[in-house]
Amino acid sequence: MQKENRDALQRNYVKLVKETPVDLVVGHLYQTGILTDELREEILQNPNTYSKTRQLISTIQRRGPHAFDGFCTALIDEGKSALVHHLKASMTEKSEVSKDRAMLPIGDDIFVVVSEWCDKVLVHIRKYEKNSAAIYVPTKKGVALTLNQWQLLEMYVNEIEDAIGQMIDDVSEVPEMTFHLGKGVYITVNKIYPTVDVRQRWMTPDTNQIVSTKKGISLTYDKWEALKGTFPAVREAVPEFENTIPCILSDDHQNQERMLNCSTCNPFGEPL
Ligand SMILES: [Zn+2]
Repeated sequence: MQKENRDALQRNYVKLVKETPVDLVVGHLYQTGILTDELREEILQNPNTYSKTRQLISTIQRRGPHAFDGFCTALIDEGKSALVHHLKASMTEKSEVSKDRAMLPIGDDIFVVVSEWCDKVLVHIRKYEKNSAAIYVPTKKGVALTLNQWQLLEMYVNEIEDAIGQMIDDVSEVPEMTFHLGKGVYITVNKIYPTVDVRQRWMTPDTNQIVSTKKGISLTYDKWEALKGTFPAVREAVPEFENTIPCILSDDHQNQERMLNCSTCNPFGEPL
């Protein structure tokens, strides 16, 4: 089943569980060959409609490219065309605003996800979790990087590696090393926590202190390794990289004053 179909099922999950005439739909799907006899039995042996429907929805997601249309047809045949309309409407809605171009696992349900959101391409490093229908859904734990921020992350890779090495060998003179990706997103390599932390910072309006926010994710070194492994696939998913350069590399920024005045490079307006 296509991702957009799975997403539509997931978004309408509660409604589907309430309104699907599950026994009849299962009958249809068996007749059209989408469910085997065995799967039909498995679903129908559940004690109630709720658990039958739950299992039906998770089962059809593994039943090939025609399962979604088959499911919709079965619903329409059973007088549930409004439900199908709802399902399909949510699909077009979603695909217009948000589309994932790539979803690359780096371990423990953390993914590097290239997504388009309102015409803007972002690269997420984000923890996902499986919902009750066994579909991966994003959690709040993670960070969304702009293309420029991702480019800087790539650019700093050797220095970050170097910092990790210094922390591991315990030869660093400082407790942590940070790399600014722009707009207050920092990569931090720390002596005490053996992780690479990618996180948004912001300035508290009252005390003008720069503090870490919850928008971020800490990667163990093995996940950092895996993240580096996604660079080629991310590049492939983002042809726009050819036409974007981080402002820090622009001619304009050779002038230090310009750089200090840049809200991307110096978001908190710090002096030199
Ligand atoms: Zn700048």
